[in-house]
Amino acid sequence: MNMKKKKKIDARLKAIEAWHLKWGEFECPTCGRAASYRNIRREQWLYCESCWITWYLGENVFSSWRYETEADWRANARFLNKFRVISF
Ligand SMILES: [Zn+2]
Repeated sequence: MNMKKKKKIDARLKAIEAWHLKWGEFECPTCGRAASYRNIRREQWLYCESCWITWYLGENVFSSWRYETEADWRANARFLNKFRVISF
């Protein structure tokens, strides 16, 4: 594995670790239920369908966005538009 790639993965793991320290599992900060996420390009947005809120997790925290298309991101954006954006 080259250093650049390793650095990228380390940064991603650090972001996940920081999140876990702050919020435990990927839980809704309001109701504590497990949160789901959608990608908008490189960005991951977590959301809770019980509380109708969404919040920004980070960029490239999960790599699933790489397998999605412009159309997927448009659909995800439309989906997330139904939620209220909260920030920390
Ligand atoms: Zn919730």
